[in-house]
Amino acid sequence: MVQLGVAQRFRTLKPSATVEMSERVRDARASGREIIALSSGDPNVPTDPRIIEAAEVSLHGGATHYSSSSGEPSLRESIARRELLRSGVRYDPDDIIVTPGGKFALLAALMGVIEPGDEVVVPQPGWVSYGPCIRLAGGVPVPVAMADAFDVESIRKALTPATRAVIVNSPVNPTGTVVGRSEMCGLVSLAEQHNLWIVFDQVYADMSYNGPVAFPQAIDNAFERTLVVDSLSKSFGMTGWRLGYLAMPPGLAKYVVKFIQHSIYCVPPFIQAAGVRALELSDELLPRYREMFRARVARATEGLQGVEGLLCTMPSAGFFLFPQVDGDEVAIARRWLDVLNIAVLPGTAFGDAGAGHLRLSLSCSDEELDVALDRISSAGVYC
Ligand code: PLP
Repeated sequence: MVQLGVAQRFRTLKPSATVEMSERVRDARASGREIIALSSGDPNVPTDPRIIEAAEVSLHGGATHYSSSSGEPSLRESIARRELLRSGVRYDPDDIIVTPGGKFALLAALMGVIEPGDEVVVPQPGWVSYGPCIRLAGGVPVPVAMADAFDVESIRKALTPATRAVIVNSPVNPTGTVVGRSEMCGLVSLAEQHNLWIVFDQVYADMSYNGPVAFPQAIDNAFERTLVVDSLSKSFGMTGWRLGYLAMPPGLAKYVVKFIQHSIYCVPPFIQAAGVRALELSDELLPRYREMFRARVARATEGLQGVEGLLCTMPSAGFFLFPQVDGDEVAIARRWLDVLNIAVLPGTAFGDAGAGHLRLSLSCSDEELDVALDRISSAGVYC
């Protein structure tokens, strides 16, 4: 019999630690266990009813056909306005492509600029999908460990003639760090010197607690080399809608759109109609959600302060805590799940540089969070 094989690119692909943990939590709940999930990056923000209504109206109005592969002009114009307001950068809507979530925008960006064997620098700890998406695009991820702050010098040391791009995420998942303006300027000049693309993932930019983040696309000369990945998932409580975008310097969109045409074709038009409505509601919704998460991370940080063997500081953004723990983070995460019924991720899910940390996603309700904090404080890190 002919032996049929699975392609190397799939065989070597690691499962997503966050998605895998969500599935374990689902299975455990299905078998009757009451698990508090502090593991998934899916905030407990229900989509605003006005956004849902916009999708319904669109569906009933006949938006049940293919849409434009780049995205509906009305949504791309709204996104361009949003970018101008946030970063001060004026994008032509033709340089914006609507994608099913930020994850696909990242994949499209990498597919667009990475040749087989190109190296892409990825600061760590960093989001779980960067390495796998680089590999799917044929590239080689080069993890660079950064302790507490973004370190341009470490990136410089990791560069080789094969380096084509650096992925920068600010605010960072999992640490909540916001890359400062001077570090971002340092990165931009490094990218200029070595002719690198900057893939900038700004999906948590609306959740920065100490003022706006530094956007590389707004820094002199960086616009031409920055690919901006963004999403409505986290900002608007719309993870399940799968709606994101890629904003690019002129000249690239006409290539990237062919990838969209031959893969997903388009994002469903009624989802895009919901996106237009969400962006119209930005001024009302975003400050409200930001304040809710700020209060929650402050409360949780305080709640964990006295726990022996655990060191937790307030993040500058987002809804993740990344406390340091004394001991093996994988064993501790397992004990918390088995004994405390609390699901968290070991820091090493975000790269080796995450060793000695846990990631707690405060995406549950305040009530569940209080129960979790009580259990952790009473049982201690090693329970
Ligand atoms: N970037 C980061 C840093 C993330 O944490 C996530 C989701 O967890 C994404 C991008 C992609 O989110 P989505 O595909 O839901 O837009």
